[in-house]
Amino acid sequence: MERAFSLDLGASPVKNPCMSTGRLTIDLDALTANWRALDGMSGEAVQTAAVVKADAYGLGVAKVGRALAAAGARRFFVAAAEEGAALREALGPGPEISLFSGHMSGDTDMIHDLHLVPILNSMDQLTRHFEALPGHPFGVQLDTGMNRLGMEPGEWGAIAPIALAQGPTLIMSHLACADEPDHAMNARQLAAFHEMTDGIDVPRSLAATGGILLGPDYHFDLTRPGIGLYGGAPYEDAAMVAHLDLPVIQIRDIAIGETVGYSNTWEAERPSRIATLSGGYADGLQRHISNQAVLFHDDIPCPIVGRVSMDLIGVDVTHLRERPKALTILGDHQSVDDLANVAGTIGYEILTQLGARYTRRYARGRQ
Ligand SMILES: *Cc1c(COP(=O)(O)O)cnc(C)c1O
Repeated sequence: MERAFSLDLGASPVKNPCMSTGRLTIDLDALTANWRALDGMSGEAVQTAAVVKADAYGLGVAKVGRALAAAGARRFFVAAAEEGAALREALGPGPEISLFSGHMSGDTDMIHDLHLVPILNSMDQLTRHFEALPGHPFGVQLDTGMNRLGMEPGEWGAIAPIALAQGPTLIMSHLACADEPDHAMNARQLAAFHEMTDGIDVPRSLAATGGILLGPDYHFDLTRPGIGLYGGAPYEDAAMVAHLDLPVIQIRDIAIGETVGYSNTWEAERPSRIATLSGGYADGLQRHISNQAVLFHDDIPCPIVGRVSMDLIGVDVTHLRERPKALTILGDHQSVDDLANVAGTIGYEILTQLGARYTRRYARGRQ
């Protein structure tokens, strides 16, 4: 019998370091440009921190943290002590790392050994902190109406003298509606924050990305941008940081009436060319974008056809002149917010769900 094919893996070196999973490119220059731009929106006396919780919104806290520190960021915020530990390992001693979740029981050793700064949210946390680590730096979070974390006005009135006697390094609160500049909640929270903190000689912070855009009244001494650093709304002028390309595994031509994917949700109305791409809901590309979102070949949109499955997506490429090697789902023609709009969510969720299977590349500038 003749051999139908031969495999010669040794002879011809693979020229194209061809990807088999999606390639996520994180543009660190865009990231630091966003940090500088947000820093430039507040006055000289206002410090601009960086929020890098949830693995820097899914983009990798070590690389992101180091790039921001090199750009001049000196204060970082994460949600939990474990995240603070990962960031400390990346940054070394020096930069201040604060924990929004405060001082949780079981975190004392990490807070002490890694020099993390808990933002204390309640009387319980204050007591725990002062008993376990007297003299260790801390901040205080106040609740000005969001009803999520922090001490409420009545509670704060009673506790403030005790807390202030221990010398907090920061008093902060968080805005619930800052992405809607005209929302009455913004002014209400601003007034509540003034009421709870005016006359106290401790640095104050109220604004995340949305609050920075609300203007100087909201800036106080320190701002805490997160999403704006990573190219997301409400910072409309942000540079794109995350670029995601999905490789084509197979291309097939199908006839009118044939269907694509699970449950036959898409049927060809013309002879069609369908590319099957590596990437699916296990990679954070929600099933909800089935038959809705587009990917791009350069600047030509190509619609997703059929259901997004766990590892694969079908895309109609009938109108392309060439057979694409990969298509772009996040890039110059589609931001995280564009994709979020199709998926019925927000850019924050698109970013933080970016899958672990992607090949990640950290780029300085666009290549
Ligand atoms: C997540 C978070 C931030 C950053 O918010 P963005 O909207 O991403 O800029 C700031 N402060 C607190 C308390 C947060 O939880």
